[in-house]
This record gives sequence, C-alpha cells and structure tokens, in this order.
Amino acid sequence: AVMLANVRKSFGSTRVLNGVTLSVKRGDVTCVIGPSGSGKSTLLRCINALTPVDAGTVVVEGIAVHDPALDKLALRRRVGMVFQQYNLFPHKTALENVMMAPIHVLQEDREEVEARAVALLTKIRLLDKAHCYPGALSGGQQQRVAIARSLAMRPTIMLFDEVTAALDPVMVKEVLSTIRDLAEEGITCILVTHEMGFAREVADQVCFTDHGIVVEEGPPEMIFTQPEDPRTRDFLGHVT
Ligand code: ATP
Ligand code: MG
Repeated sequence: AVMLANVRKSFGSTRVLNGVTLSVKRGDVTCVIGPSGSGKSTLLRCINALTPVDAGTVVVEGIAVHDPALDKLALRRRVGMVFQQYNLFPHKTALENVMMAPIHVLQEDREEVEARAVALLTKIRLLDKAHCYPGALSGGQQQRVAIARSLAMRPTIMLFDEVTAALDPVMVKEVLSTIRDLAEEGITCILVTHEMGFAREVADQVCFTDHGIVVEEGPPEMIFTQPEDPRTRDFLGHVT
C-alpha cells in the first residue's frame, strides 16, 4: 500500500505539491490524471524518493519514505518505475538490460537472474528478441523491455509516468495490456496517463490533480460520469 498525506514540495519559489493526500490499496491500479504542470510526475517521484518531500508523509509498504534516514535500496527493491523515455542501455541486449539491476544492485546469482529474465521476456512475449539491442526494437517493444527490467527487481509496486505517450496506437495497446497483466498478478500499479479508456476500464481508482493537489479521487465510474469538482469536469471536457 502507498499513503501520502499533506505532501508538500517546492522547487525554489515554485510550489509544485501543495498538500497531496492519496492512498492506494495493495493490488489496486490507480490512474493519475490532470493538466500539464499539475505535479503528476513530481507526485510519482516522491513515492520512490527520487524527489525528497519538503513536508508531509509518504509511506510505502510500511516504509517511511519521508524519513531522512530512509534505506533507499530497501525502497527501490519494492518500487519499480518506468518513464516515457525507456532509457534502456543501448549497448546491452534486451536480456542483458533485464538482468543488470539484480546482478549489479542486488548482487544476485547470475544464473538465477538469467532464468528470471528469460521468464519475464517470455511473459512480455519478447523472448525472440532477447539478444537484440534496443535500437533494433520498436518503441513499444523497448517500453515492454523497460517494464521487464523493472520487474526483474521483483517490485510489489510499479510506477508508470506517461509510458505510452511516445507510442503509436498499436504499441500503446501492447504496453497497456502488459500493465493490465501486472495488475492481475496483484502488483500495485500507479500510472500517470492520458489514456482515459485504460483508466475507465482498468483503474480501481482515478485521481485528478490540479495545481499541486488531489482535487478528487474515486472509482472511474464516478470520476468520469459524475465528477463533483468543476475543475475535474472542465478537464474531462477537454480530454474526452
Ligand atoms: P506534465 O503533464 O507536463 O508531465 P506534470 O503534472 O507531470 O506535468 P511536474 O513534472 O510534476 O508536472 O511539474 C510540476 C511543476 O514543477 C512544473 O511547473 C515544473 O516546471 C516544476 N518542476 C518539476 N521538477 C522540477 C525540478 N526538478 N526543478 C524545478 N522545477 C521543477
Ligand atoms: Mg509529467
């Protein structure tokens, strides 16, 4: 589970998070939607301590992320993150990309890690590309390898920041279907996304952010059909 309470974050004089409160149940899929600059990426980055918070509390699987004495490695073992830019290592094959973190960060046994990496590539239906370099893969395939690379650390929570934004519609479908599978396996997924169809169909919870706060959150049928806040209605009126 993930719990943020009254989280505040400024960059210089720019207040980006103005008291964000959000809770995500274990195994749920939460879609974070909202206008550009509303703080969605910053919110995600506060969950895995890429961005330190100024105030408030962030608790992830019982770990106090806001605590300056945070054990970042313990957190990173539980929380994976994938970005719009896949950032695969260009000079490593798909298989090597997936194997790197468990071997170099966790010092796990190479053979075990390889077996797990093969299983992950099978799951994302890219085993035939195991020995390809990222440059030889499509954007959607690279993004799925990036997801597999994150999963190799066996996280219980996955964060996705606009992972389909740079993809064409067919690839978007492939990547979203991979994410849907993770959710079915019980991995807690938090996605910043513009894919309202996915949010409607797959999300347990949709969270609308504006100007650094969570304006409204609830099940998709509520947010999409009877949003309470005028800001949510206005935003949805523009994107749907
Ligand atoms: P988008 O939909 O465009 O990705 P977002 O909702 O993800 O937007 P954030 O990336 O969280 O928004 O940024 C919110 C605000 O914080 C923006 O005004 C941005 O310029 C500012 N900001 C984010 N990161 C930093 C940083 N490291 N240093 C300074 N300002 C930052
Ligand atoms: Mg963003």
